[in-house]
Amino acid sequence: MKRRDVTGLAPTLDGSRVLMRVDYNVPLEPDGSVSDTARIEATLPTLRAILDRGGRPVLLSHLGRPKGKVVPSMSLAPVAPILADRLGAVVRFVPSTDTDEALAASEDLSPGEVLLLENTRFLPGETGNDPDLAARLARLGDLFVNDAFGSTHRAHASVVGVADHLRPAVAGLLVAKEIDALSGIREGCESPFVVILGGAKIGDKIGLLETFLRLADVVLIGGAMANTFLRARGLDTGRSLVEADAVEIAGRFLESGGDRLRLPSDLVVADPAAADASSARIVDAADIPPDLAALDIGPATREAFASIVREARTVFWNGPMGLFEKSGFDDGTVSVARAVAECTAAGGFTVIGGGDSAAAVRQAGLADSVSHVSTGGGASLEYLAHGALPGLEALDPA
Ligand code: ADP
Ligand code: MG
Repeated sequence: MKRRDVTGLAPTLDGSRVLMRVDYNVPLEPDGSVSDTARIEATLPTLRAILDRGGRPVLLSHLGRPKGKVVPSMSLAPVAPILADRLGAVVRFVPSTDTDEALAASEDLSPGEVLLLENTRFLPGETGNDPDLAARLARLGDLFVNDAFGSTHRAHASVVGVADHLRPAVAGLLVAKEIDALSGIREGCESPFVVILGGAKIGDKIGLLETFLRLADVVLIGGAMANTFLRARGLDTGRSLVEADAVEIAGRFLESGGDRLRLPSDLVVADPAAADASSARIVDAADIPPDLAALDIGPATREAFASIVREARTVFWNGPMGLFEKSGFDDGTVSVARAVAECTAAGGFTVIGGGDSAAAVRQAGLADSVSHVSTGGGASLEYLAHGALPGLEALDPA
């Protein structure tokens, strides 16, 4: 269901503290520097909308999975100078969240400035949505904005619990844009609707196939996801990455999906420990050698998948077709990315979700050639499957 967003707030916020959940779960280099700033930049429109109205933004985010403990390498401190630079505003950073120091900093914040607090997942009650923690976090603001699309499928204290205590509670512009793109697909998209599913987070994603098989005309399976289906078909998958726990459910989808579910017919196999692709060769999907791993879809599969995608009117893609980070194993992912771009150029509506999938499309230089690149993997899949997300339900209705 559509939610009220920041454009529906009063034109002047009069110095109100706007507690804003963002998703600054950015990739860090070993030296601690931020290697991809896209998630920071994605929040600028909402921050500008709040600052323009005279609101004082207080930002909450998680980074990584510190599991309720302070892990210095997962501090949000490196984000503050980057945000200050991109926004052109003073960004104060306080290295705590649920403290008097953080509360005082929120009260002392000057108009035009932004306050960034420390990683919410350093707090023991965050992922369990502890109601006492949510109530304390709510004291950091006078109203609530959720612009953390990539976290909106998580019922965590800083995403869901906090919204019980603050009104208005509205969506940021990023969340609103993401929901617009995804509801376009859910609510009567044009046929043929093709879903492409790949990647390695098989356990997280496979359960959603039931819905995708219902919504889509064709579901193309690649990446390590495909290996799990090949195993379910009873084939030998050698040293390929397979999620053993998901083989049984994959087998059930093989039956219920019928010919709407398409698996690779050929694969690129190689020694998974080899440094490069020089030993790689192409085999039939039924002939994966026992000592090798399937690391990409083969040329016949690329051709078959690309021609289905080119003919589509709507495409949703999550999960790379292979080990695209390694050169020689990115051809499948790049071919599919090109086909999605061609579909878009021909008037199709195309959405790509997932951190690695988005990175692959950017790497191929095609991010501007598709309709929408989502900042959230799990969140986009879940919204598409269920039409609702816990963090959205917690906000004011439109
Ligand atoms: P996303 O982030 O787009 O949701 P995932 O996180 O599920 O995607 O999966 C991305 C990862 O899957 C990438 O690191 C990629 O190298 C890996 N991957 C894809 N296919 C294979 C394969 N056949 N074998 C091993 N890893 C694979
Ligand atoms: Mg990923």
